[in-house]
Amino acid sequence: MEKQKKQQFETEVIHHGYDSSIYQGSLAPPIFQTSTFSFQTAQQGEKRFAGEEEGYIYSRLGNPTVKMLEDRIAALENGDAGLAFGSGMAAVSAVLIALSKSHDHILCSQGIYGCTFGLLQLMKEKYEISHSFSTMQTEDEIRKAIRPETTCIYIETPINPTMAIIDLEMVSSIAKEHNIKVVVDNTFCSPYLQKPLNIGCDIVIHSATKYIGGHGDVIAGLIVGNKETMKEIAMTTLKDIGGVMSPFDAWLLIRGLKTLHVRMDRHCDNAMYMFEQLKSHPVVEKVFYPGDKDSSTYPIVEKQMKSGGGLISFTVKGGKEEAQKVLNELKLIKIAVSLGDAETLIQHPATMTHAVVPKENRDQMGITESLLRLSVGLEGKEDIWSDLKQALDAINS
Ligand SMILES: *Cc1c(COP(=O)(O)O)cnc(C)c1O
Repeated sequence: MEKQKKQQFETEVIHHGYDSSIYQGSLAPPIFQTSTFSFQTAQQGEKRFAGEEEGYIYSRLGNPTVKMLEDRIAALENGDAGLAFGSGMAAVSAVLIALSKSHDHILCSQGIYGCTFGLLQLMKEKYEISHSFSTMQTEDEIRKAIRPETTCIYIETPINPTMAIIDLEMVSSIAKEHNIKVVVDNTFCSPYLQKPLNIGCDIVIHSATKYIGGHGDVIAGLIVGNKETMKEIAMTTLKDIGGVMSPFDAWLLIRGLKTLHVRMDRHCDNAMYMFEQLKSHPVVEKVFYPGDKDSSTYPIVEKQMKSGGGLISFTVKGGKEEAQKVLNELKLIKIAVSLGDAETLIQHPATMTHAVVPKENRDQMGITESLLRLSVGLEGKEDIWSDLKQALDAINS
């Protein structure tokens, strides 16, 4: 397709890469629910396999509905090309396996998604690909953490679930000196709030299950990067490991994306309100929110994020028992992992998302037994607060 003129983000989420006139005017894009594509002649099949003719072959190698989503996310992240996966973890594993071989080293932010931690552990045990963690708060710290065999820096910012912030510009400029690829899991922000490729990072990963889908009804992953790397991943760790996205899931995500900007604005407004309320509740000890103007890392947030996002973590006075009591008192807010849905969700990282992480690493990451993570939804903000407040009040009594 001809390269379109770049329009505003809010327009691209709705229109990028879709020409309804090709499909009898269908406003919603068609779902190409097919496993394979027939060739007109044997020679055409030969040419497609040889890469001499553009066209589809088999849906694990590419599908028009999936391709439309891949092109759209690439445009939104301001990258050359995108790829879609059957889950966020399929995306994370495809990228990390593609970028490393045995005896390489992956440098990670101090605090990463629990299953990414599990994957790195597996890569160490089975393939001798090592990893280490750094808080990456200063240039010095980053330089010291880089080893001769470091081939990839893997970052989450804001960090799950502690909301610590890493300066992507600082990391990517140091990484460039060493020819190291910087991979950012941008799930918490979505491309609406943060565009790591604009700041010099190399690959962006999304669990599209979260804000991109936005409605809690699909498990999916997306990545964006330069054409060459995306092609390499498409032909190896996507095609051969095979964690592809289904055409129907791609269609759901295309639909979800259309409201991304509107939803994110409301998630952020509601989260800011919840942050203000939580700060002054007597049972709440600490509140972690990227939009906290008093935080020492707020200047970085202002520089690289459009807004504070929809996630807040906080600790309650006491420990696991008190944290669990808060959850059990809730009525409107659902106890669930995942995030970015219309519904407000709360979870207890130490026993849920980060239960697989050994306690010692959890302590390093700041994941205490009294920490709760709240994904602020799209309900009325006063209703969300009144539910959380009555649950917090209950542990005081
Ligand atoms: C959920 C999540 C993942 C994994 O994505 P799935 O779609 O569940 O496989 C990775 N990173 C972050 C930050 C997540 O929140």
